Amino acid sequence: MAERMTPVEVRAPGGWQIGTVTSIKAETPRTKSFRIKLPMWIAHLPGQHYDVRLTDPDGYRAQRSYSVASSPLDEGEVELTIDRLEDGEVSPYFHDVVEVGDLVEVRGPFASYFVWRMEKPVLLLGGGSGVVPLMAILRHRRRTMPTLPMRLVYSVRSTEDVIYADELDDDTLLTFTREAPESWKGHRGRIDRELIAAAGIEPGIAFVCGSNGFVETVSRLLLGMGWEARQIRTERFGPTGAL
Ligand SMILES: Cc1cc2nc3c(=O)[nH]c(=O)nc-3n(C[C@H](O)[C@H](O)[C@H](O)COP(=O)(O)OP(=O)(O)OC[C@H]3O[C@@H](n4cnc5c(N)ncnc54)[C@H](O)[C@@H]3O)c2cc1C
Repeated sequence: MAERMTPVEVRAPGGWQIGTVTSIKAETPRTKSFRIKLPMWIAHLPGQHYDVRLTDPDGYRAQRSYSVASSPLDEGEVELTIDRLEDGEVSPYFHDVVEVGDLVEVRGPFASYFVWRMEKPVLLLGGGSGVVPLMAILRHRRRTMPTLPMRLVYSVRSTEDVIYADELDDDTLLTFTREAPESWKGHRGRIDRELIAAAGIEPGIAFVCGSNGFVETVSRLLLGMGWEARQIRTERFGPTGAL
């Protein structure tokens, strides 16, 4: 048997590896998407995240998690979209220091719960940068099964906070919580029952991602509208945060 075995490529889903930044796109004044080429890439499930680790010359380390925004069909690379927090340690480093060609230390993909395994119908509800893992799900569905019922309900503060603005179309319902464009005819204010109902998705599976407050509020709304807890998967990005 031994001679028929082929060598197995060394792959380490949980191990640290050094990726190369191949492109940087400014999505909004506060968010940038980083495409990172990985030597030990493995296909992720939409919804999963990577850990990123920074080490300074004194050996001090800071580690944070960032969701994958890209579809697993983008072989060999992942896209991470990072919101710049003014007083943060890691996110300003990415925004202000990292350039195309730089090397970054990452490991992943992680998470077995907040992942889309092709269940349907799907309702995605995101607040602010919480849209990132939802975009991985949406992008993957567009490329693999575009007719599968899926809708994104996306809450942002104002026009300049719309991440992936050039990719949002009929499968997305936007709401502006602070300042809508003048000609805006859509929803204003926080996500409510009316907006969720307008998405027209029967209870199947819901992915809710954003700040703690956002996730709490939206999950409660869904429960009040007949969704069961087992149908709602949540991911929380930060300790606090108003939308
Ligand atoms: C599973 C998972 C996936 C994530 N995916 C993404 C992603 O795709 N894109 C992304 O931008 N972030 C994502 N995050 C959040 C990210 O991991 C960091 O927490 C965030 O970038 C802040 O790190 P920092 O070092 O810049 O700030 P820190 O130095 O950690 O914090 C600075 C200050 O901001 C507060 N703070 C920390 N995080 C947040 C937050 N999210 N919102 C508001 N205030 C905060 C802290 O309490 C502190 O006061 C994810 C988090 C988790 C757990």
